[in-house]
Amino acid sequence: MEDVSSYFGAMVFNDEAMRLRLPKDVYRQLKQTVGEGKDLDIDIANSVAHAMKTWAMENGATHYTHWFQPMTGITAEKHEAFISPQGGGRVIMEFSGRELIKGEPDASSFPSGGIRATFEARGYTAWDPTSYAFIKDGTLCIPTAFCAYSGEVLDKKTPLLRSMEALSEQAVRILHLFGKNDVRRVMTTVGAEQEYFLIDKKDYEKRPDLVLTGRTLVGARSPKGQELNDHYFGALRTRVAAYMKDLDRELWKLGIYAKTSHNEVAPCQHELAPVFISANVAVDQNQLTMELMKKVAERHDFACLLHEKPFAGLNGSGKHNNWSISAEGGVNLLEPGDNPRDNAQFLLFLVAVIRAVDDYQDLLRVSVASAGNDYRLGGYEAPPAIISIFLGDELTEILEGLSNGEDVSGRGEAQMKLGVHVLPPIPRDTTDRNRTSPFAFTGNKFEFRMLGSSFSVADPNTILNTAVAKSLKDFYEELKDADDFESAVQDIVRRTWQEHRRIVFNGNNYAPEWVSEATRRGLLNLKCAPDAYDSFLLQKNIDLFAEFHIFNSVEMHARHEILHEEYSKTVRIEAVTLVDMMRRQVIPAVSAYTDRLSKAVADKRAAVPGLACKAEVGLLTSLSGDLDELLSRVEVLDGMNSQSASLSGSELSHWIHDNIVPQMEAVRDVCDRAELKMDKEAWPYPTYGEMLYYI
Ligand code: ADP
Ligand code: MG
Repeated sequence: MEDVSSYFGAMVFNDEAMRLRLPKDVYRQLKQTVGEGKDLDIDIANSVAHAMKTWAMENGATHYTHWFQPMTGITAEKHEAFISPQGGGRVIMEFSGRELIKGEPDASSFPSGGIRATFEARGYTAWDPTSYAFIKDGTLCIPTAFCAYSGEVLDKKTPLLRSMEALSEQAVRILHLFGKNDVRRVMTTVGAEQEYFLIDKKDYEKRPDLVLTGRTLVGARSPKGQELNDHYFGALRTRVAAYMKDLDRELWKLGIYAKTSHNEVAPCQHELAPVFISANVAVDQNQLTMELMKKVAERHDFACLLHEKPFAGLNGSGKHNNWSISAEGGVNLLEPGDNPRDNAQFLLFLVAVIRAVDDYQDLLRVSVASAGNDYRLGGYEAPPAIISIFLGDELTEILEGLSNGEDVSGRGEAQMKLGVHVLPPIPRDTTDRNRTSPFAFTGNKFEFRMLGSSFSVADPNTILNTAVAKSLKDFYEELKDADDFESAVQDIVRRTWQEHRRIVFNGNNYAPEWVSEATRRGLLNLKCAPDAYDSFLLQKNIDLFAEFHIFNSVEMHARHEILHEEYSKTVRIEAVTLVDMMRRQVIPAVSAYTDRLSKAVADKRAAVPGLACKAEVGLLTSLSGDLDELLSRVEVLDGMNSQSASLSGSELSHWIHDNIVPQMEAVRDVCDRAELKMDKEAWPYPTYGEMLYYI
């Protein structure tokens, strides 16, 4: 067996590498700066830069880049060589502290929602020393935040870091009230389970829809779908197994603890789960994972599809954001305790999350809304668009009982009476798995399951952290001067439960009854992405982000604009691609095939005069009808692409959602119908069956 430990993290300038390579006092000061979240001193930066460069060059790097996460949701880099000209044609390898901590990629084409037009044109990147630098393709990548010179944030990383700070600050104050005075920081932890499809590269390349939009815009259902569930956790095929092994190795080199891989429900669908880590590192690692999934796929003649719905009629791909908070030393604050006092603390954090999710359902919904995810949420494979929490029956009964002043302590072996100061023992693993819940408590963490597979996990965690920080801040205000701390805690738990229990739903989220029940409870049902985006700018949301200095109102407006714009652009590209595919490939193919049919009829009748040729004539008539219908639907769609030119922002995205999306479906309907009548060899694209079952 190979020794993974010999290369695990070999391409990461991690704590171990820093400890080995930095002078002792520099290492100590760096740790301290990072620990306290302070700005880095230039002397330390120079020393770190020097060590980092030496390490990177020893590992084959010749370039460095500030690696950042603009609002496109993917990562960006601009490579600079280490070399610096010395006269006489000589070069030396250089990399200073200044270059480490600050970069100016300009990068003016990234979306800014108008910020950079009104303020400063330039953007700069700043090193985030809480994420480790790493080497990828011979380039030292330095994780950075990306801002405008005027200070406005232009990326997804900075708000996340701020939200982690906010949550930490509030949680620490609460922990101090519980007597845990030595806790100075609290960490948000995240494990992002990633789903993906693998198909043959040859098939992928023959489909402009997959290449240009990431999903199939047409394609008749294969005779066999996922009905038998025979793919789920099935044995890995050899080629796929080789891919996964290779991928794991690449991830391990980058210090990413990829832990499990298995087949998912749909054919050709798989999942990778990493071991959880602090939220900002998890965001970086998930971005790298997605990038490597695609890159390694190339080496194995696969294409890796990360779109939320690559194939109609089959499960789409999501991402499960496992989230918790832990105090220094790794104590999980969402782990039920061993004694009543710890349980009081657990219940307080638990209701903080419940309140946060209820009050900011809309923001959480925004954080998972996209054109691609619209095809998933509400389908039977993914949670509906309604946010609710699964707690499990036992925890729900405990909270319910507490709020009614009942004796809830009789559960299990313990026969403790519930006095004011005594909380019941909380069963460890209460969670029978509820796979239908969008936000499930799974024993000692919450699993937010609505994310699309291609998403950055930054936004959902930013929102979650900030909303929970808000609950904790309000709790603290109430608790800090309480005469009887324990009663005050119970009071908050009881009251918060009463006010927010409507968000908890332990039943089947896929059941149609849930939709009406949720409406009765007053829960939001923001069905499509443009609807969700509209709620982003509600005053309560602007206030929340302002209170914790995550976004100011200018940044919120910018983000809101980008969301709508991205939706409109995405769908428009799909529509244009579809029109093009129909006009230049499908219509000519169907036309040529009908031509063949009519020639066949003519030939046969020449040979045997008066022959009926029922099959050919029937097919010819039917396909000619489809062809006419297809052409007219394509014309309508094409017309829509230019009609919407006068609209913008929210109006445009709604218009596109209401008009272009259904018209694309209408085109697809006829196209798929025609496909099933055609000679397979005459169809311009690999079919669903070929793509999904022939690996
Ligand atoms: P399950 O079987 O419930 O899915 P796993 O232990 O397999 O649980 O974990 C699923 C994902 O949740 C993994 O990516 C794991 O790293 C992550 N996870 C586990 N504990 C935590 C935690 N405390 N905080 C964040 N993520 C966690
Ligand atoms: Mg999961």
